[in-house]
Amino acid sequence: MQNYEFDTIILGGGPGGFAAGIYAARGAASTAIIDISMLGGQPSNYLELENYPGFSNIGGYELMEKFEEHADKFGVNKFPMQEIVSVDLLSNPKVIITKDSEFKAKTVIIATGAKPMRLGVPGEEEFIGRGVSFCAVCDGAFYKDKTVAVVGGGNSAVEEAMYLTKFASKVYLIHRRNELRADKIVQERAFKNDKLEFVWDTIVKEIKGKELVNSLIIENVKSGEVSELSVNGIFPYIGILPNVDNFSGQIAQDQKGFIITDETMKTSVDGVYAVGDVRVTPLRQVITAASDGAVGAVYAVKYVEAIKEVTV
Ligand code: NAP
Repeated sequence: MQNYEFDTIILGGGPGGFAAGIYAARGAASTAIIDISMLGGQPSNYLELENYPGFSNIGGYELMEKFEEHADKFGVNKFPMQEIVSVDLLSNPKVIITKDSEFKAKTVIIATGAKPMRLGVPGEEEFIGRGVSFCAVCDGAFYKDKTVAVVGGGNSAVEEAMYLTKFASKVYLIHRRNELRADKIVQERAFKNDKLEFVWDTIVKEIKGKELVNSLIIENVKSGEVSELSVNGIFPYIGILPNVDNFSGQIAQDQKGFIITDETMKTSVDGVYAVGDVRVTPLRQVITAASDGAVGAVYAVKYVEAIKEVTV
């Protein structure tokens, strides 16, 4: 078992985590980022971003590489691929135990992001990897000249549906209402795309197949009509839930589990901050996660300095 001690430990290596790392390390706090998978977070899977200032078009992976290089420059310690066993946010110091190591920290910044919500219909879990996917960028190429469905009406669903039209011969976008939630500019592009067919006022009731997915049972919520739609794949993009598995219940959260913070990113627990998609916030973007990371780290560093003053 390895033992480590830092002023600030950041859980999660996405844009919020890297920004927090850069600010904490520049604030002279010894800093580490721990992640259960590779660093980069959700944006690493985005084909391209057009709204991160300074980059009118950049690949998500490329942008996150730049974040990581920036964090490296200021000496942020990185621990990717950590299997987390337990997190104790209430003790002082805070303790994070992984399969191989024990980490102690004066402050913890939670930047664990969010994960895709499930439709919760029969066949969804069973066919993951065999026609059900939550990542168009990862799996889109498997659907060359095939028919796929995307579910949802937000930015993710519409953008990923358009991405899938590069491979698939037809993409159905199934939405439970007759109006999209996605940004207007995204909608306008989607409506011009000939390979996209909108299936309005409709929900998916079941995902069917043998070895692989071959159809969906769908229901029109206005008429009540139930029908079967032939598809080779389905990509649910119906929103996100926070990644809080290891510490849920130790801090104040909303009904869906998102962490409640004040404007300094402080949670209900002293010395614990939350930034980015994992917290209750009106906008979840790379830029807002990065901004949260900066704010949270500045206040985490102040907290560390206050502790050090007391103990000197
Ligand atoms: P979202 O904006 O919350 O949209 C979720 C969509 O799924 C909504 O259209 C919702 O329908 C639908 N939905 C929810 N539960 C459903 C269910 N059980 N069955 C069927 N449909 C359901 O989620 P998101 O698109 O994943 O985006 C998450 C956040 O990331 C947003 O803030 C978004 O703006 C941001 N984002 C930004 C970009 C970008 O700027 N480039 C790209 C991707 C994501 P209703 O509309 O009826 O509620």
